[in-house]
Amino acid sequence: MMQDLVTERWEDFLKRYCWDDLIELSNSYPERRSLFVKFSDMDTYDPNLADMVLDTPDVAIASATDALREMDIPTGVILDEANLRIINLPRRVKIRDIRSNDIGKLVGIEGLVTKATEVRPRVIEAVFECPFCHHIFSVVQSGRQFKEPFECEQESGGCGRKVQRFKLLVEKSKFANAQKIRLQESPEELRGGELPQAIDSYLEDDISGEVAPGDRVVITGILRSYQRITQYGKTPFFDIYLDGNSLELMQEEFEEIDITEEDEREIKELANHPEVYERFIRSIAPSIYGYEEIKEAMVLQLFSGVPKELPDETRIRGDIHLLLVGDPGVAKSQLLTYLVRLAPRGLYTSGKSSTAAGLTAAAVRDEFGEGRWTLEAGALVLADKGIAAVDEIDKMRKEDRDALHEAMEQQTVSIAKAGIMARLNSRCSLLAAANPKFGRFDKYTPIAEQINMPPTLMSRFDLIFTMMDRPNEELDMKTAEHILETHYAGELIARLEGIGKVDAGEKERFKEAKQVMEPAVRRDLIRKYVAWSKRNIFPVMTEEAKNKFLEFYIGLRRQGYEDEEAPVPVTARQLEALIRLGEARARAGLRDKITVEDAERVINVVTYCLKQVSTDPETGKLDTDWIAVGTTKTKRDRARSIRDIIKELEKEYGDEVPLEEVLDLAEEDGMERDKVEEIIDVMKRDGILFSPSGGVIKFVR
Ligand code: ADP
Ligand code: MG
Repeated sequence: MMQDLVTERWEDFLKRYCWDDLIELSNSYPERRSLFVKFSDMDTYDPNLADMVLDTPDVAIASATDALREMDIPTGVILDEANLRIINLPRRVKIRDIRSNDIGKLVGIEGLVTKATEVRPRVIEAVFECPFCHHIFSVVQSGRQFKEPFECEQESGGCGRKVQRFKLLVEKSKFANAQKIRLQESPEELRGGELPQAIDSYLEDDISGEVAPGDRVVITGILRSYQRITQYGKTPFFDIYLDGNSLELMQEEFEEIDITEEDEREIKELANHPEVYERFIRSIAPSIYGYEEIKEAMVLQLFSGVPKELPDETRIRGDIHLLLVGDPGVAKSQLLTYLVRLAPRGLYTSGKSSTAAGLTAAAVRDEFGEGRWTLEAGALVLADKGIAAVDEIDKMRKEDRDALHEAMEQQTVSIAKAGIMARLNSRCSLLAAANPKFGRFDKYTPIAEQINMPPTLMSRFDLIFTMMDRPNEELDMKTAEHILETHYAGELIARLEGIGKVDAGEKERFKEAKQVMEPAVRRDLIRKYVAWSKRNIFPVMTEEAKNKFLEFYIGLRRQGYEDEEAPVPVTARQLEALIRLGEARARAGLRDKITVEDAERVINVVTYCLKQVSTDPETGKLDTDWIAVGTTKTKRDRARSIRDIIKELEKEYGDEVPLEEVLDLAEEDGMERDKVEEIIDVMKRDGILFSPSGGVIKFVR
């Protein structure tokens, strides 16, 4: 009786608030089968009804669904299998805040889809046959366990006998499409270092198969629990899952950064500051000394270039990819983590991460899928529309190496395995760090040979920086002073937090020391500034800037025109990188045009990197063939480098190789003896070689 009353209320509600939607649905029924109802409409219609939906969703949604399915609609269609789905729920629960009193309630959970199984049928109404009287009856299936009857159903005319096993009539039973997904807290909601938590959710019928790993969604559903069972039997602990009622895809930037008018004023004021660009650079990891060029590149990466759709439908990425290759202990990891914390959607991971999905994605069959295949997203997919910082990228798995080419350039990850065909988005900027293959840099061997990464992959980075840890008294002194100062400030902060006071004299020093670490622009202002710029600024090149780029590019290529034998210095990829960097620099100043100054500034950065990475140590000429094919022209012409010669001789002499032999062989290869001796001396000074006793040399390992 009570129930009928409620159903009547729902009928009235649907007529008043959802009439047009109902007519529309009936026109495309049963292809479309869901009526999406805004929670706020229910709340306006009857707050009590709305409360029922929140607190006793099972009953409330069932009666609302009954009302929907029995509705008289002028089109004459009966929506007998339609679903009622509730959207825009104000009650949003964070995954980590879910507690036992949320169980059984209707909640909205926002998150990132990390895994999704294939869509497979699930029985929703199982039809059984009694082996004795052949009576046929059905059992509605809800929940995670398959419900089988114990006795033949008398109410529907059966014999009532207790039966061990009824026959399941598969072809008479009703099925719905079903999918299981895993929802994870989005990276930007985590405070530094927290591990993201996750919840699994089941989606049924027309909302299954709608999401892919990497998507950001809100799922409204009923929180349910089930008993955890181990190999020793049932435990007193329960796990939870979300029984999905509705699914909303969030197309745009997830947690769109809110920018108030006040913020906008502050952003524009900052943009007018004559040194805004330098201030941004000084705001990147101020506790790390030096590396101006790298920090500049990171600023440009934050702003990124403009993604373009060309008239012929080619898509060109706007994201800027950076690679830092360096000796151990040069603050690579520190720089990466800093940028990830600064970027609105940053994600930090290591190349040797142990998940099946790794950096890109994988199709796996494990316990999550309960027999089905699961598509699992890796770091670059999860960082869609953000920055993915991948530390120790040289240690990544082979599968990732292969998939990374596509992920970096086309910004998609394709999977074709076990009948799963999927293309996931990976529209992110990659900030990668790597150690040289032999642990330490040796500047006489091409960079490409020293990185555990295929050259084709290296060429996809817009900028590659090398960071060598060479003893240099002046620089060492400055770095050391800087580190001492930041640590001193850190110590005082720790004391202030620990016991609440510092000595009067220290207070003054503290102010000074703290200044060293303070970014020039506040972190939240940088985030807002970047977000505002990316939303509103779409710069175009001025004629002058175009000419500058052209001049620079042709100038570098010219080496190749004048001298048939010369290496090809630069490829078209570098020109594209230049344009992207120019766009990013204009965005950093909130300018609609890319000026000559922008062009010059980014040309400087590019030149800096090219010089570091591509200068052939033997000729001093630029040669990006190093990056593209892994060896220089000079090297290709000359059979062996000194390094190779020593390695060759190691076969004969073991670790300790006679210097004379090295010189002789090098001479045979057409190198001058003096020059070779000189190079060996430098290699000794750099700690690559040493002489354990007179006349022999040995690699430092
Ligand atoms: P990497 O990842 O390159 O091996 P880390 O990022 O782990 O190196 O850095 C090692 C430590 O040395 C960090 O604590 C870092 O702060 C410090 N360090 C290295 N170079 C600098 C620098 N230029 N300025 C300040 N600290 C530095
Ligand atoms: Mg490191």
